[in-house]
Amino acid sequence: MATAQGTFPTVKDQHFDYFLVLDFEATCDNTQKIIPQEIIEFPVLKLNPKTLQVESVFHQYVQPRAHKELTPFCIELTGIVQDMVDGQPHIEETLEKFHEWMKTELLDKDASFTFVTCGDWDLKTMLPSQCRHFNIPVRPYFKSWINIKKSFADVTGEFPKGMMPMLHKLQIPHRGRHHSGIDDCRNIAAILKGLLEKGYVFKNTGFST
Ligand code: AMP
Ligand code: MG
Repeated sequence: MATAQGTFPTVKDQHFDYFLVLDFEATCDNTQKIIPQEIIEFPVLKLNPKTLQVESVFHQYVQPRAHKELTPFCIELTGIVQDMVDGQPHIEETLEKFHEWMKTELLDKDASFTFVTCGDWDLKTMLPSQCRHFNIPVRPYFKSWINIKKSFADVTGEFPKGMMPMLHKLQIPHRGRHHSGIDDCRNIAAILKGLLEKGYVFKNTGFST
C-alpha cells in the first residue's frame, strides 16, 4: 500500500532506475519448427520501482520476412491476425524505432535499467537468433536481463513453470489474453510489483555474448 508520502514502505531500493518488461511473440506452428522464427510483436513497459508505475510503453507489431503468412495456430495462440503485421515495419526498422525510444526514455537521461522477461527465450534465443540470421547487430543493452522465474524462485523457493503459476501463487488475477505480447508484459509487470512489495531486490540473472 502507498503511504501518505506516496512511497511503498516494503519496497527496497533497487540496483536499477527502471525495469523494462519485455515479451516477444513470434511466428510459430504446432506441427513443425519455423526456421527462421521471427518476432511479430515487440512490446516493452518502462516501470519505475519507486512509484510502481509504468511510465512509458513501446509497442510495435512487426512484419515477418521469411514466413510472411501467419499460421492458423499462431493466430489462435497470439491473437495477432495477418492484418496486424502486414505493412508494419520489419525487424531492422523496429529495432531502430526502439533505439530512439530508448534514447528518449533512458539513454539520454543516463538512467540505469535492465530488461525483465519470463524465461530466457526472448533475449537469449529469439532476438539473437533472428539477428544472426538476418545479419543485424544486437545492441549491448539487450545482453543482460532478469528472468523473473529465477527471481520468483529466490522469493518462494519454488521454480515456476511459467507466468500463470506465478500469478496464481501470488494471488494476482490474470488480465487480458495469454500469449498477447502486450498483455503478457502487463501480467509480468504485476508479478514484478508483487515481488518488489515482498521486499525483493532484483539482480540480473541472464547474460549473452
Ligand atoms: P509466450 O511469450 O509464452 O506468449 O510465447 C512466445 C512465443 O513462443 C509465441 O509467440 C510462439 O512463437 C512461441 N510459443 C509459445 N507457446 C507455444 C506453443 N504451445 N507452441 C508453439 N509455439 C509456442
Ligand atoms: Mg508472450
